[in-house]
Amino acid sequence: MIVRVTLEIALRREFDYVVPEELRANVEVGTRVKVPFGSRQVLGVVTALPESSTRAQLRSILKVIGKQSQITPKVLQLARWIAGYYCCAVELAIKSVLPDAVRQEKDGWRERLFVRVQPGSRELPKLTRRQLDVWHVLEERREIALQELLEITGATAEVVRRIESHGLIEIAPRVSERDPYANETILPTLPLALNPEQSAALVRITKALNSAQPPAPGAAPSLGSAGRDPGDGAVFLLHGVTGSGKTEVYLQAIEHTLSQGRGAIVLVPEISLTPQTVERFKARFSQSRHQTLVAVLHSRLSSGERHDEWHKIRQGRARIVIGARSAIFAPVDPLGLVIVDEEHEHSYKQEETPRYHARDVAVVRGRMEGAVIVLGSATPSMESYANAKKGKYALLEMPTRVDDQKLPLVRVVDMRNEARKQKGPPIFSGQLKEAIHQRLEKKEQVMLFLNRRGYSTSLQCPKCGYVAGCPDCSISLTFHRAEGVLRCHICSHHTPAPTVCPEPRCKNPGIRYSGLGTEKVEDTLHKLFPTARVARMDSDTLQRKDDYRRVLGDFKTGKIDILVGTQMIAKGLHFPNVTLVGIVHADLSLHIPDFRASERTFQLLTQVSGRAGRGDVEGEVFVQAFTPFHPAIQYARKHDFQGFYDLELEYREQLQYPPFSRIALLTLEGRNEEKVAFAAEHLRKGVDACVAGWKGVILAGPAPAPLAKAETFYRYHVMIRSHQMPKLRARLAEYLAEQQWPDDVRVTVDIDPVNLS
Ligand code: ADP
Ligand code: ZN
Repeated sequence: MIVRVTLEIALRREFDYVVPEELRANVEVGTRVKVPFGSRQVLGVVTALPESSTRAQLRSILKVIGKQSQITPKVLQLARWIAGYYCCAVELAIKSVLPDAVRQEKDGWRERLFVRVQPGSRELPKLTRRQLDVWHVLEERREIALQELLEITGATAEVVRRIESHGLIEIAPRVSERDPYANETILPTLPLALNPEQSAALVRITKALNSAQPPAPGAAPSLGSAGRDPGDGAVFLLHGVTGSGKTEVYLQAIEHTLSQGRGAIVLVPEISLTPQTVERFKARFSQSRHQTLVAVLHSRLSSGERHDEWHKIRQGRARIVIGARSAIFAPVDPLGLVIVDEEHEHSYKQEETPRYHARDVAVVRGRMEGAVIVLGSATPSMESYANAKKGKYALLEMPTRVDDQKLPLVRVVDMRNEARKQKGPPIFSGQLKEAIHQRLEKKEQVMLFLNRRGYSTSLQCPKCGYVAGCPDCSISLTFHRAEGVLRCHICSHHTPAPTVCPEPRCKNPGIRYSGLGTEKVEDTLHKLFPTARVARMDSDTLQRKDDYRRVLGDFKTGKIDILVGTQMIAKGLHFPNVTLVGIVHADLSLHIPDFRASERTFQLLTQVSGRAGRGDVEGEVFVQAFTPFHPAIQYARKHDFQGFYDLELEYREQLQYPPFSRIALLTLEGRNEEKVAFAAEHLRKGVDACVAGWKGVILAGPAPAPLAKAETFYRYHVMIRSHQMPKLRARLAEYLAEQQWPDDVRVTVDIDPVNLS
């Protein structure tokens, strides 16, 4: 038996080995193996079982890793597509489809000692008082972890050993699964009666589920095309306003999928993977007719928890997976449905190699496995909405909130007037202050949003012009008052905050902190509303694993009146008593050099506004802005997605940005700026030559990237826009593979980038 193996060291090549007789039964495509390579031993994955090899003298594989093949052939095929589409080595793509915790050579199960009562009733021997106490617990529980038994009874292990010596019990190691949600009590829920909009959406999805068939084995789906065309699996774009009840539609679609004997993957952005969200899924399926485990995969799990969750899926015990980006690779088989909630979210894009976009991978996976894909959002991405308009995706609209709750009233406050009135940069307008005051009086809750952490965002000396910047990055340092430091938000470099100008020849005591962050908002609230209970939620305040749950729990139970936060509080949270939402500085996200700045601002404002008025009282939103008439702000005020989309589409067309083209962004990085600039020029010429004579290709750069230096590396960009991405991608991969770059210059390719900095 011969196997073809991709090694974990990225060599962009595969190697053949023979399988010794005794291992044959355990080897198939997708099995992970340990093989000799030169004088080393390395891990790899079996990608094929060829009849013969062109090489003579094959070496033997040494070992099979794991009891089950860890990569199903379907996921392997997906990994190959990723390598091709996103221009990366197959080895890296394969590596990224397995969580680290699963990829270890040693199997990662945790064994603990368990005490089990031996079957058969026997005469009870004479036991001491201590032993009897322990025995009574054992009689009731029959089986219990030794550690737990000792904790309950206060006995020592020696006491338990004595009982064992009487032959009453057995103490033995057993795999004990780590369950990240073990401490939650989750009450089961039943399907809700859907409103007409929800029913209409569900009917379309279940119809597609009924007709979607897995592609015939061996039939290779056409992967070369745009990468987003629906093939065998239908793709739906569910455009439903905040509070329209999208989740209930997901839940019932999953129910239908389970009834067909298939499984489902639910992707949600990492930050909205709250206990609240997870609970809604567990509550529905832990006891339903098609009862199954719900596995959860996200980065806040311990590696052991992730290992166990993953194996629950691989063993087929969990047929529903809910997770962040990488959950799209979960080995659910057969797969019937993939839901991508908040499909417009940028966190679906992985910002390191392989730079895949989980939403787009979901669409491709759906096509490969005949699964139905549902992309859901209140503010779909321009790309997805354009695909729906073109008929590539089927559009499902849910334009009203459940129970006809009104969308909140949004007021835009012109902060230029406030600046004049308050004679300085204002934090809260008079109107917002008054509104907070009134809501607090009525014992209602308030959420305030500002997408920037820290206290002040810059430090300047008005006398000598000094600005505190990071020595290693091209950005200014943020003042964090509680810690008394200036900190870089790229590399975390920090220094004590100075009280006089640090320029030796200046030493001016009148240094000025300016620019606003969440810490200062919180501080100002304490001053303005001394009796209100204020909490802040951003990555500075959430240090421990449980902080997130605790703060949200306190807010839910009314122990907090005002919650201040960054985008962490913008998504998916549902607090019926929140009647007022304030967006402190709405135009922050407009001032970034990115063609999606407007889109992002519109999405953020809509999401944040959606947190208000989800109970009986109508919600109210204050949007404070220095450019109050910007279309992104005005359309968000009117809850007019279509209006925004139409206008934005025109702008995209004029400039030939996506969805009218696709982008490949090339980044060059190195410590020597001249070398980077020189390599960038060379790269530009090379790309020019690659696409000479092609129609509809627009090249920009080389130019310093908006983030010109990060962690001591200078950064340059070359951007390519094209209508023929598959062709371009292939040509580019070829060209880059031929090139020799200077040792200290690194070139990376990002296909369909979302981060242009
Ligand atoms: P979305 O995800 O679209 O923002 P949710 O799914 O969170 O909206 O729904 C908002 C609220 O409405 C939730 O509390 C949900 O339980 C409730 N809900 C959804 N569908 C129905 C329904 N058909 N009848 C009653 N309540 C519903
Ligand atoms: Zn830095």
